[in-house]
Amino acid sequence: MIFGGQDIGIDLGTATILVYVKGKGIVINQPSVVAFEKRSKKLIAIGNKAKAMMGKEPDNIEVIRPLKQGVISDYMVTERMLKTFIETAMQKKKMFSRPRICVCVPSGVTELEKRGVEDAVYHSGAKSVEIMEEPIAAAIGADIDISMPRGHMIVDIGGGTTDVAVISLGGIVVSNSLKLAGDDYNDSIIKYIRRTYNLLIGEPTAEKIKMTIGSVYPREEPVTMEVKGRDLVTGFPARIIVSSEETIEAFAEVTAQILDTIHNVLEISPPELIADIAEHGIVLSGGGSLIYGLDKLVEESTGIRANVTPAALEAVVVGAGKSVNFVGK
Ligand code: ADP
Ligand code: MG
Repeated sequence: MIFGGQDIGIDLGTATILVYVKGKGIVINQPSVVAFEKRSKKLIAIGNKAKAMMGKEPDNIEVIRPLKQGVISDYMVTERMLKTFIETAMQKKKMFSRPRICVCVPSGVTELEKRGVEDAVYHSGAKSVEIMEEPIAAAIGADIDISMPRGHMIVDIGGGTTDVAVISLGGIVVSNSLKLAGDDYNDSIIKYIRRTYNLLIGEPTAEKIKMTIGSVYPREEPVTMEVKGRDLVTGFPARIIVSSEETIEAFAEVTAQILDTIHNVLEISPPELIADIAEHGIVLSGGGSLIYGLDKLVEESTGIRANVTPAALEAVVVGAGKSVNFVGK
């Protein structure tokens, strides 16, 4: 393997970047966040360390997410972040073995956006770059045999985009992409709490509420959580108790749009494939699909069984890593 390249799969997510090295598995799993010094543009931290700085940074430091809604919004920063992650994944063996890389993009991106991702990955040191559509990668990662003439529906809910696709014979037959996903649930919580309690909370707190008690479907036993923030009337710190039932209400709008997108794709799917989907069920992936009750809700609203794939956060990168071709060898 000294002169041969390594095969790498990358899930360049809005929320998380994962890197899979063939033969090793997932070697990087970090938030897509970068911190740099404003004036000198010097990198200060990436990944976990940068995310921990979010909302707590002083004036001279900027903490950003260089990817927005599944596409690169800041090329320079994305390239530097990718380069660091790829070098770490390769353990600095890059001299002799530039990797072949398969990187995923959401199904809705334009050719121009695809080219942008491709360029960024090339510039980070790849020997060859392959672009794979996320739903295909998610299906492969979920152990679905996509080569058969059989319809499968994949719903990938990430941080910024929800991708719904019907796959058959290795390709996407119909799809739709919604620019609303897991992170919009955080925004919904922030707005709900401000509106209902006059309490201002930050994004990390909102995400914690979502992951701890957040629900889109009633729980058998409702749960509650104490939330701290700033009282907008007094300006002082204050605390409230929020229940899982309230989060259902707060999430309703985003949830309805996700369901609409799923219904819309079902409506435009060829009947033969619908029959397959009804038989095999809908597969949910991505971090956003982990919110409590989404599988039940999808099932109830479509009448089709829905399951969250076991490694929901990893399916895309595993699929990409498994399918790096030997082109460019
Ligand atoms: P992307 O592909 O855009 O990087 P991910 O698939 O990593 O996104 O999903 C990120 C989203 O999933 C974020 O909005 C995050 O808050 C949410 N998420 C992750 N884990 C959970 C969980 N256990 N419950 C609810 N939401 C979650
Ligand atoms: Mg994703």
